Amino acid sequence: MRIKGVILDLDGTVVENDYDWTRIREELGTGASSILGYLDSLGEPERSAKWAILEGHEARQTQASVLRDGILELLGMLRSRRIATALVTNNSRRNTEFLLGKFGLEFDCVITREQGLWKPSGAPFLEVLRTLGLDPGECGVIGDTHFDVLAALDAGIDSIFLLTDDPGRFAGYPVEVFPAVEVLVDRLEHLL
Ligand SMILES: [Mg+2]
Repeated sequence: MRIKGVILDLDGTVVENDYDWTRIREELGTGASSILGYLDSLGEPERSAKWAILEGHEARQTQASVLRDGILELLGMLRSRRIATALVTNNSRRNTEFLLGKFGLEFDCVITREQGLWKPSGAPFLEVLRTLGLDPGECGVIGDTHFDVLAALDAGIDSIFLLTDDPGRFAGYPVEVFPAVEVLVDRLEHLL
């Protein structure tokens, strides 16, 4: 089936930064894989105090983020082929809007954690499919972590493209891995 839409992740995919999730989990005192799920489970005052820790890290990483090489070319190619684009991030609306404004990026659909839908659940991707009027087989996902893979599989999306320097991390997963956006653009141009 032809791909008519692409969902992109923000941090580590569209922009590059340096989140130390091991340290953040230590500061939060949790080993939970889903930090948002953990924070959501807490009562006050612990909940607000720990949200502030996460938001502090996010604010610093957002300020330090740079646009990944090749992203403008990728988005331009998708637009020229009339492929719909969506951005799905577990980051906040405020940080997302800052980065989209800073780098002049536009997407047809943007989902942030305030909507209560976050990866690794497929729920935010299903919301994109509903908004764009697409079936899972008509959509691809571009990301950089296992959360992107798990969310895609949960949503029934099996065209999964990962940007990573370490393809071994995704051995055994039904994904295609790319060391750089330029290589991914070449692949997509043949696929679309
Ligand atoms: Mg990411």
